[in-house]
Amino acid sequence: MTEIRSTVILGSGCAGLTAAIYTARAGLNPLVLEGHEPGGQLSITTLVENFPGWPEGIQGPELIENMKKQAARFGATFQLAHLNRVDLGAHPIRLHTSEGEICTRTLIVASGASARWLGLPSEQALIGHGVSSCATCDGFFFRGKEIAVVGGGDSAMEEALFLTRFASRVTLLHRRSGFRASKIMLERVMAHPNIELRANTVVEEVLGADEKEVKGLRLHDVTNGAESILPVSGLFLGIGHEPNAKMFAGQIDLDDDGYIRTTGNVLTTSNGVVVPGVFACGDVQDRRYRQAITAAGSGCMAALEAEKFLEVYSH
Ligand code: NAP
Repeated sequence: MTEIRSTVILGSGCAGLTAAIYTARAGLNPLVLEGHEPGGQLSITTLVENFPGWPEGIQGPELIENMKKQAARFGATFQLAHLNRVDLGAHPIRLHTSEGEICTRTLIVASGASARWLGLPSEQALIGHGVSSCATCDGFFFRGKEIAVVGGGDSAMEEALFLTRFASRVTLLHRRSGFRASKIMLERVMAHPNIELRANTVVEEVLGADEKEVKGLRLHDVTNGAESILPVSGLFLGIGHEPNAKMFAGQIDLDDDGYIRTTGNVLTTSNGVVVPGVFACGDVQDRRYRQAITAAGSGCMAALEAEKFLEVYSH
């Protein structure tokens, strides 16, 4: 007989680990399934300056490691596994994972969001050969080289600033004149002597696909239609993320961009009706705030709701 768990948490980012801390402290022995990006987005970021309690800031990977240790101390366990299929209608819920079947009374979905790409064939052909979506992972390889970053939000600003540690010059390309980035990040970028900001510019092609090495970018100025070549050795995408919720399509309500719709903060629904025992937290259900602290907050809420659900369920 397959063991029936009280709680399984899908995802080990800030939301999932906070849910793990709370459910572990409540004695629910949560199992955390770490997917293809263990630790989530914080594990590939650098200094986090806005997580309360760290006046000097803390490195993202260190923050995640601390949360993981904290959850483990109270009995949370971790498994590297991919969710292949799930039937949310059945109770207990059956998860078909790469490591076998898991049965659980509650499921906390904290599967986050993954980096978005431009979708150009030349970009796709050069991923890992000069095209990257992770400055902290790959910046090191561009010491002394000229590179470009695409995007107009905080991620792009953060990447551009971080990459100045390695690159001799960073060109930040944004498709329109307005920026989503916070004022402080935009000001830091504009003040940096090694960053050039080019608005109203889109990347049409990444050059070098035949040589398997980025040689430059073919750019298009949307204000006057001018085409130009920017010779760079690397291209970093900082254009946002896609929610990891496709595997739930048809079983719980998703919005037009694929984010999980929630009600009461973390309760999931199917055709507007609450799905018992299935909760969602963090970036997979948050298209608005997407901060480490809001992800942690919603992870806490999901854990408390799971606990309440189990109290009722066991009577
Ligand atoms: P975002 O705010 O959604 O910005 C994405 C940017 O990429 C936008 O400027 C968008 O352009 C551009 N973009 C999207 N698709 C594109 C495409 N196909 N081609 C060209 N450009 C494209 O995403 P984010 O920067 O990842 O930030 C997400 C959230 O995390 C935000 O709330 C942000 O404040 C937060 N964050 C905070 C920090 C920090 O505080 N240090 C760091 C990183 C992220 P348009 O503007 O034209 O749509």
